[in-house]
Amino acid sequence: MLTGLMFDVQRYSLHDGPGIRTVVFLKGCPLRCLWCCNPESQRPEPEIEFRESHCQQSGRCTEVCPVGAVSPLSSASPHPSPLPEGSLPLPPPTVPFAALRAGAELGPIRGEAAPLSWWERGADLSPGLSPTRGEVRKIDHERCGRLGKVCGRCVEACPNGALRVVGQTRTVDEVVAAALRDAAYYRRSGGGVTLSGGEPLAQPVFARELLRALHDRNVHTAVETTGCVSWPLLEAILPYTDLFLYDIKHLDSATHRRLTGVSNQTIRDNARRLAEAGAAMILRVPLIPGHNAHDDHLRAVADFAASLVAAAGVDASPGRGVVEVHLMPFHQLGKDKYRRLGRTYALGDLPGLREAPDGSERIRRAREIVAGCGRPVLIGG
Ligand code: SF4
Ligand code: SF4
Repeated sequence: MLTGLMFDVQRYSLHDGPGIRTVVFLKGCPLRCLWCCNPESQRPEPEIEFRESHCQQSGRCTEVCPVGAVSPLSSASPHPSPLPEGSLPLPPPTVPFAALRAGAELGPIRGEAAPLSWWERGADLSPGLSPTRGEVRKIDHERCGRLGKVCGRCVEACPNGALRVVGQTRTVDEVVAAALRDAAYYRRSGGGVTLSGGEPLAQPVFARELLRALHDRNVHTAVETTGCVSWPLLEAILPYTDLFLYDIKHLDSATHRRLTGVSNQTIRDNARRLAEAGAAMILRVPLIPGHNAHDDHLRAVADFAASLVAAAGVDASPGRGVVEVHLMPFHQLGKDKYRRLGRTYALGDLPGLREAPDGSERIRRAREIVAGCGRPVLIGG
């Protein structure tokens, strides 16, 4: 049975496409953006997340781990020292994304069905639990992966929900059934379902079949994509995708590689192909101070967007080609996730753009410059 690996499903979302939406976050990403606010999306396999604030030091996780990946109490910091400037939080993946870029279709990612985790059960921190001070436990994520799968014994053993498996396996039918519960909201609001990630096309067969099933049921579909996949994978979902939310991180290839771990050539080429195919696209540009939010780069974004508008043709019907550009101000909402995954956040000390003293003015100016492309420019989205 065809399954996909997801790390979250958000209902009633007002972001990531028009109207009220269900956003399905799939695991696996070919990029390693320094500013990524969903680091749990990056790896294409389930992984363990540890919340120090929930830990009451029962030690049961340490006892049950078959590979000794959960350390006993230690007063040492579990957090690695900061990365050297410009280095990526995780090495860019070579397998299976190299195959993906080369055009191979990957099968569904296999994963063990994990027990319901605290976020699925809707459970929250019990009253009376308090953050641990001083001593901490530490998960050795590499050692945890040595079994070839996340066994989840520590999660089951923890009485306080301090551990969870990030990555749940679901079938297409399960996701469709869950999404259709909100069909009335989609109809009334012009909403639908968005596949996000990570990169949804890191699981291309699952993504295509899910989109097809939703489309067959007249549900509006959107895909948020890095564009860093082989063209045949994008082409395969074209008939079932009503809107592409297409990320543009940096238009200079060398800088793109430094910031994300990969060149932008495939991304640029695919953007043009989608525009020429008449796909409805919203370009999404993160505004990262000191990296891509300066005037010169924003002018390049405006020029690139204008070139895609032209590529769609002068007679492109309304709603085809680039319909809008969204600028996404840098924020720190994902910072704690790095800590829970035992990783270092390279931009952990960079203030959110909205919080910066001149943030509003910089956002206003960015919008003004990018509006030169001739399409509406929105902040956020
Ligand atoms: S998932 Fe299994 S191997 Fe990994 S830390 Fe927990 S008990 Fe150990
Ligand atoms: S493309 Fe998105 S999910 Fe992937 S690393 Fe960059 S920000 Fe994270």
